[in-house]
Amino acid sequence: MGFFQRFKNLFIETDNSSSSKDSSISVGSVKKGAKKLSQNIGETEAICPYCHKKLEKKPSRKTKCPHCENYIYKRTRPFDDADILIRKDQIDQIDEEWSIVNGSHDIYLKEKHREKRIRDGMRERFGKEPADDDVEFRVLNDQAVEAEFAGDWGFARNYRLNMAKNLEKRKSHELSLRMYFHVCFLDINGPNNRSGMQSVDLDKYPYFTPKSGFLAPGVIKRMKKLISKLEFDEEDCKQGFVEVNKPIFEGSPTPLSPETAWLKLKKELIE
Ligand SMILES: [Zn+2]
Repeated sequence: MGFFQRFKNLFIETDNSSSSKDSSISVGSVKKGAKKLSQNIGETEAICPYCHKKLEKKPSRKTKCPHCENYIYKRTRPFDDADILIRKDQIDQIDEEWSIVNGSHDIYLKEKHREKRIRDGMRERFGKEPADDDVEFRVLNDQAVEAEFAGDWGFARNYRLNMAKNLEKRKSHELSLRMYFHVCFLDINGPNNRSGMQSVDLDKYPYFTPKSGFLAPGVIKRMKKLISKLEFDEEDCKQGFVEVNKPIFEGSPTPLSPETAWLKLKKELIE
């Protein structure tokens, strides 16, 4: 189902359900924005949301239905905080309703538009439906570039980290390691988010503060695994790190050069 259709359904469903038995729920327990929330979505009992057969017990996390073998997802219903079991195709709707409850619906819609624009563009270019992982990678890249333009280098770093994880998940070991090199380069330079700080002088709150630079142990651990899979030695790593980060150093306000940054990374990665 297309996003707009689903969005429309969300409101239609609400209109219908306003006259149903659930409208007896006391007003006091209804959340802000509850008019837009589905009251009946999901199964509150131990019932499969696909085949509606009884389950032995209500699953507490993602589980395969023993009858129809579809994946059942557990969520909290935004309308009333009930524990519900839903289908895969209902995940987006629950996410959207939570964004309404949390007051971040505009961000949710912006991100949905971004994903649609990127997916449509890829489909047109390749002449077929793109893989979800490919779409995710390009969406992350788009978000990273947008954050970089806004001066939010900390957020950009997080998007780049998820790009590295995306590549790792797809077993693109070398590309993944190179993206982790990029992340480490930003980390060592100490990235800041400046988009909310326009009124503060750049020298008081710069794009990067190497003094507050750090290397995340989790990232180092992932890189060590990749390095051993790729059978890279120290020289391979140094070369890759400098090659990846030279254009980033030249095209961004990072104060530390790749050569200087490498000496810091080497201590954690090699020694
Ligand atoms: Zn089932």
